[in-house]
Amino acid sequence: MRVLSGPRRWLAFGVLGLTVAVGAPAALAQSESPQELAARGNSSSVDRTHAVRQAIQGGRARNVILFIGDGMGDSEITIARNYAKGAAGRLAMDALPLTGAYTTYSVTKGDPSKPDYVTDSAASGSGWATGKKTYNGAISVDPQGKPVPTILELAKRNGFRTGDVTTAEVQDATPAVLGAHVVNRDCKGPDETSAKCAVNAKENGGAGSIAEQLVQTRPDVLLGGGAKYFRQTVKAGPFAGKTVLDQAKAADYQIVTDANSLRDAHANKPVLGLFTDGNMDLQWTGPGAKVGGTAPTTCQPNTTLPASQPKLADMTRKALDLLERKGRDRWTSKGFFLQVEGASIDKQDHAANPCGQIGETIGFDDAVAAGMDYAKNHPDTLVIVTADHGHTSQIIPNDAKSPGQTATLVTHDGAPMTINYATNPAGQSQEHTGTQVRIAGYGPQAANVVGVTDQTDLFRTLSRALGVR
Ligand SMILES: [Zn+2]
Repeated sequence: MRVLSGPRRWLAFGVLGLTVAVGAPAALAQSESPQELAARGNSSSVDRTHAVRQAIQGGRARNVILFIGDGMGDSEITIARNYAKGAAGRLAMDALPLTGAYTTYSVTKGDPSKPDYVTDSAASGSGWATGKKTYNGAISVDPQGKPVPTILELAKRNGFRTGDVTTAEVQDATPAVLGAHVVNRDCKGPDETSAKCAVNAKENGGAGSIAEQLVQTRPDVLLGGGAKYFRQTVKAGPFAGKTVLDQAKAADYQIVTDANSLRDAHANKPVLGLFTDGNMDLQWTGPGAKVGGTAPTTCQPNTTLPASQPKLADMTRKALDLLERKGRDRWTSKGFFLQVEGASIDKQDHAANPCGQIGETIGFDDAVAAGMDYAKNHPDTLVIVTADHGHTSQIIPNDAKSPGQTATLVTHDGAPMTINYATNPAGQSQEHTGTQVRIAGYGPQAANVVGVTDQTDLFRTLSRALGVR
């Protein structure tokens, strides 16, 4: 076919029925709503000035949905996109209309005047959840170990319903920073807390482990893994001698353990979903990266994944349904704050397992799509999609002589893509990196993600959107 340009090119493609797949004529951009822009994505050669202007909304949001891809730097997003959608394809998270980058550094333990350039999920989570920088390993405490109020606690105190959803243990750093305050992220149950967080232990007059504190904070919806910590025994206080699960039941939680019981959960009581003892299972499998590389191959669905385990998108849809329904039943017109974490993008990056990492990124993207569907029907909803820190994986030339571990995958394009893991020698856990990461937004206050901000600014964007202090 002869190459045409301008309107005739569109006409030619239109006749062939290809217009939608290739792009949209410039004239259409003038009538695009923020929802249409979000639905279509940003991949276009049209003038987007008007559409971006329309996407900027001030004021308050009724609801906030915060998506955290753990360890999901630009490199992890690009790897997942290339593999699953092709280099010119787009993920659901790519469709948010306003995008910026934010810095993620933490502070040095013992000398908080000095940055620690590579954060962990605990310090970064504490940063976006409280607006204050702290040291690696801290769960919403300041560098001196003092609790700092979190966005979920402030939302709850101000009458919003709250949800906290993850594919990790619910006591893992990202879900923990919203409803617990301990000096060490390892203090997931009463036993670990006695050993590593004496100042927080119940028997010493503290608020207890992360599991106990999450129950005490009592979000309306708390979903993920980590059931084993709920079987530990509370050591002091009104629940001494009982399990943390007993404490959750006394707090009126409905306990659900699989996809069916989650589906049946109702909105008139809070819901605690504990679907695995540890972290939830991976969506995909494939060869691990190794020194010298792998033969080009493709990823496979994880056949050992139990069908009874809900996917992150299922948990997100149910959380939205529960939080929305509860609002309808009550006199209050206030909305909700919901955090959704794709946790094992990070964990499989640590393990130099590209298919595990990509499958979790795609599972997270499906959850983002569910959140955007909700927001399109509830335009007073702020959606943020971001990460907590960068990570190891990099796309390198197929003929590069990397000293690290590599794997070559055949992508959606039918082309080989080589992924490199080289922040530690083979056999050791790969490391986070100190790069800035993407933050994207849609809805009221989303303009505050544009440009280069810091992770702690996200706390202020969320609190301004909900009108809480
Ligand atoms: Zn990590």
